[in-house]
Amino acid sequence: MKDWENNSGFMVKKEITSAAKLKKELEEAKAELASRNKKLKLSVKTEAKKKVDKKKADKKKADKKKAEAKKKVDKKKADKKKADKKKAEAKKKADKKKAEAKKKAEAKKKVDKKKAEAKKKAEAKKKEEEAKKKEEEAKKKEEEAKRTPEEELEEQLTEEEIIGFQIDKTDMDKLVNRVTEMIAGYTTKGILQNILWRKLKLSSRDGSRLALKLERMGNITREKILENGRWTYLLLIKKIPISTKSIENAPCLVCPVEGKCSTDGEISPKTCVYIEDWVLTELKTKKSHETD
Ligand code: SF4
Repeated sequence: MKDWENNSGFMVKKEITSAAKLKKELEEAKAELASRNKKLKLSVKTEAKKKVDKKKADKKKADKKKAEAKKKVDKKKADKKKADKKKAEAKKKADKKKAEAKKKAEAKKKVDKKKAEAKKKAEAKKKEEEAKKKEEEAKKKEEEAKRTPEEELEEQLTEEEIIGFQIDKTDMDKLVNRVTEMIAGYTTKGILQNILWRKLKLSSRDGSRLALKLERMGNITREKILENGRWTYLLLIKKIPISTKSIENAPCLVCPVEGKCSTDGEISPKTCVYIEDWVLTELKTKKSHETD
């Protein structure tokens, strides 16, 4: 056999000399065929694998693209969400600001209202005070125009009647001294005559006449003042009179041994029982007058 064709279509031209050789060549051809077959299979497999890999790579690429697109969409969504959040926060802030401004405006309105009310009240009070002041001034003028009982008395009485004023069953010298001492006790502040007359249980008329008498005697001065809307007099001490009244009962004046009495002698005021009794009696009398 000169020409022989195998399954793959390759033409092999061999010179076959013997059966053994033929067998060997056949085996070699078989082996080559198997090798080629294997290579072909491998090639097909590789191609298929390549295709699969390509498909996989394409899929991966597509997935990646998809993932990136998704990522982009997600990012866009996240950005939008962020922007929305920002917007919402800004709106919230703006709303809060607006609410605060509204609150402030309302508070200001309230304060303004309060101020206006206070102003109104103050004005009303001022008006009331002015009216009161006017009324007081009118009253004062009216009162000033009035004459005091003392002024009327001064007009009605003569100087002799003023100086010679007496109260029934009263030791006037004692009363004058007592009242003068009491007024002196108030020093430069003086005392309102009505308070003094109350202390002495004197009527207003007697008190007024006594004050006139004391003034004429030069013991006191009288200051005309408006007290609680009424005219009265503040009595102030001018001088405390020296009176012999305080020693008129002294035992020394009628003492039979007065000529022998001296501070260093046997008969002496230091040891005299009459003097001691007199001093004690005078003290008691003075105390009882003060408590009256
Ligand atoms: S102190 Fe006595 S003793 Fe001397 S004169 Fe007077 S009363 Fe007389």
